[in-house]
Amino acid sequence: MTFFLFDRPEREPSAFVGFAGNVLDRQSETRDDDCVSRALQDETTRLMLLSGSRLLLRLDGETFAPFFMRQEAEALGQQPADAILLGRDEQGPLLALDTDLDPETLPANIKAIDHRSIYSQGLIDAAELGALAQAASLISWNRTHRFCGSCGHQTESRIGGYKRSCPNCGAEHFPRTDPVAIMLTVKDDRCLLGRSPHFAPGMFSTLAGFIEPGETIENAVRRETLEESGIRIGRVAYHASQPWPFPYSLMIGCFGEALSDEIQADLTELEDCRWFSRTEVRAMIAGTHPEGLAVPPQGAIASHLIRFWADQD
Ligand SMILES: [Zn+2]
Repeated sequence: MTFFLFDRPEREPSAFVGFAGNVLDRQSETRDDDCVSRALQDETTRLMLLSGSRLLLRLDGETFAPFFMRQEAEALGQQPADAILLGRDEQGPLLALDTDLDPETLPANIKAIDHRSIYSQGLIDAAELGALAQAASLISWNRTHRFCGSCGHQTESRIGGYKRSCPNCGAEHFPRTDPVAIMLTVKDDRCLLGRSPHFAPGMFSTLAGFIEPGETIENAVRRETLEESGIRIGRVAYHASQPWPFPYSLMIGCFGEALSDEIQADLTELEDCRWFSRTEVRAMIAGTHPEGLAVPPQGAIASHLIRFWADQD
């Protein structure tokens, strides 16, 4: 079990998962209360327009374009001054705006598509998808932190959307990222996969769960695996991470070394949990499993963990 410990590739595994392709210079050191208005004076500035859990995409021939110029946002009745700053790429500044647009009333060449479909159907490129993860997470956080958690007063957005301040008690609130441990448990030539009732038919995946306050990543991997499968874990090794904007998680992908064999699945969470041989997992990846069993599609960190392990000898 040393294959993943010291032979790190030049491009780390996290670079290959969905939502990981953000290339923006976030300009975090120069963010101030004027950064959005400064960006709006730049005529190269583009905006991503979000509406609930959807992103507006303009149909350009066969492809979808996720960016709008200031005048285009205003023509849709929106106020770019309320945007948040995502950062800057070689084309200029990029903002994101939380809109109240009704998807049913949009012009025919503009579609509002939910973030999950954009991700799973690959409708925009990796850099754009990375920017969407940042935009969706920040906008969700701003939307749900309009009131001060200390005194209940209304809060105000600051420094381009990366802070909310309370004018009543002075409290400052910062965007959250919720860590989730997602782990492939392995033992000898087998790995442990489970099935949730909501999975597509025949699909098995890694186990996962939120890391709790005061808990290390490794202990969360051990606790979640024990709770869900009854399997005890010894060594844990970090492999890769994935931004997961539903609404603002970070999936932390690990391998865990099983110390026991006997599965006692938590049937309130899983409808099935089994050991799979490497040969069987390779067939699931290739779509040739005799029972039609499968693993999640590429791009998901669960799939990345499973495929990385299956590729080892
Ligand atoms: Zn307050």
